[in-house]
Amino acid sequence: MSERIHWADMVAASVKGDIPHRVATGITPSGPIHIGNMREVLTGDLVYKAMVERGLAAELLYIADDFDPLRKVYPFLPETYAAYVGKPLSDIPCPCGEHRSYADHFLTPFLSALKELDITPKVLRGSELYRSGAYTKEIATAIGHTAEIRHILEHVSGRTLPADWAPFYPVCSVCGKLSPARILEHDAARHTVRYRCACGNEGTADYSKGEGKLVWRVDWPMRWVHFGITVEPFGKDHATAGGSYDTGKEIARRVFRCEPPHPVIYEWISLKGKGAMHSSKGVVVTINEMLEIVPPDVLRYLIARTRPERTIDFDPGMGLISLIDDYDRVSHEAEGREYELSRIASIPTRIPFRHMVTVVQIAHDDRRLFQCLSRTSYDVTNADGILRQAERVRAWLRKYAPDSVKFSVKEKLPVQAGELPEEDLRALAAYLEFLKALPAWSADAIHNGVYDVAPRCGTDAKHLFELVYLAFLGQSRGPRLGWFLEALGKEFVTGRLSEAVYPCVL
Ligand SMILES: [Zn+2]
Ligand SMILES: [Zn+2]
Repeated sequence: MSERIHWADMVAASVKGDIPHRVATGITPSGPIHIGNMREVLTGDLVYKAMVERGLAAELLYIADDFDPLRKVYPFLPETYAAYVGKPLSDIPCPCGEHRSYADHFLTPFLSALKELDITPKVLRGSELYRSGAYTKEIATAIGHTAEIRHILEHVSGRTLPADWAPFYPVCSVCGKLSPARILEHDAARHTVRYRCACGNEGTADYSKGEGKLVWRVDWPMRWVHFGITVEPFGKDHATAGGSYDTGKEIARRVFRCEPPHPVIYEWISLKGKGAMHSSKGVVVTINEMLEIVPPDVLRYLIARTRPERTIDFDPGMGLISLIDDYDRVSHEAEGREYELSRIASIPTRIPFRHMVTVVQIAHDDRRLFQCLSRTSYDVTNADGILRQAERVRAWLRKYAPDSVKFSVKEKLPVQAGELPEEDLRALAAYLEFLKALPAWSADAIHNGVYDVAPRCGTDAKHLFELVYLAFLGQSRGPRLGWFLEALGKEFVTGRLSEAVYPCVL
């Protein structure tokens, strides 16, 4: 165990020990759910797991805000969606036609990603909670305290609200929008309000049937009291002075008579070179795209190893390789709190990502992949794990890998390798003899051989490396030579080098 106390354990240690805890997370499914959003749920999950390990009674909730209205036509939507602006996300058709609703279109892949990440919250939907009447009592309280809530919002946030402002937006029976209609009358016994919508319609909304919703700044503290939320991670935008956590705290204490949850404020994840991720701007890597490339435990590790208040500048190129290397190191040692909180049930292959990057570029199909791997000392019994890892590496090469790690083994001896001066050919020939004489075809021996052979031929190792790469790749650099030649196999390697040095042997 590391001596430093992990941030998730610090949160678990700072909450009361003798009450049941609920850790709340939530995301509005208004667009692709990206790895920036994932920080919310992963932060909640890490704290939740730390609390359970500490012996606290705890539950993790995920509340999908699918009853929120569509705010605008995002760049990824067709113009026809203008007709749905203002309507609840749960009531808008899905953009691809295969999901129950707009909200489900984005939620379904996200929920399956959570499963892969070993996050198993109780999933709740705002639309179902409102429509089932779950919040009836709290909505009545909020509308009944309209003046006090307005006073809090104006004093704490410093903004001025219209005189006829109300904390409840009805769904208009004519235009179908959740709108800041004027509330004319409240009948708490019948749980209805009479309203006048901006469209001109005057109607009655029954809030026990979900015919309306509390505004965000009131909805949030309402959930704290409804579910008994004791811990909640949220982004720094809610944590500013006078922001929704500040007003929520006051509303919770003075209107709903409950204590606000322990806040865990997290910073954004930005994409290296592209800035913070925003689904509305299209600068995103969705969590599902990320899981196509990064093993789920490594994604957990990315969040676990960084204190929530620190920004993560995620680099899906070479930065990903270093992240995976770091995780491999802690997992081989099988110790440390960050590893404990990151590991999940799947069985790792123990093949380094970097090595797989070489192997998949040599082997173009699964049969050859296993052939290649069986030439090396790696255990290939976990075939499913290996195939999944290979798929991730192929996706990484396709989407994020820098050109410097890409190569292709030439089918024939590259022309440049056939035009080498005699001293180069002699050095290659000496290396070939060395390889032929190797008692065991192992990466280390193959690699170290270059350092033995080069000085004997009056050249330096760097140059000999370049010559060998040239014979296989037609370029003077390539992947780590030992792994590379080991995976290519002795027969192919000695055959190709014999061809290259042929003029010399004559
Ligand atoms: Zn869809
Ligand atoms: Zn209307």
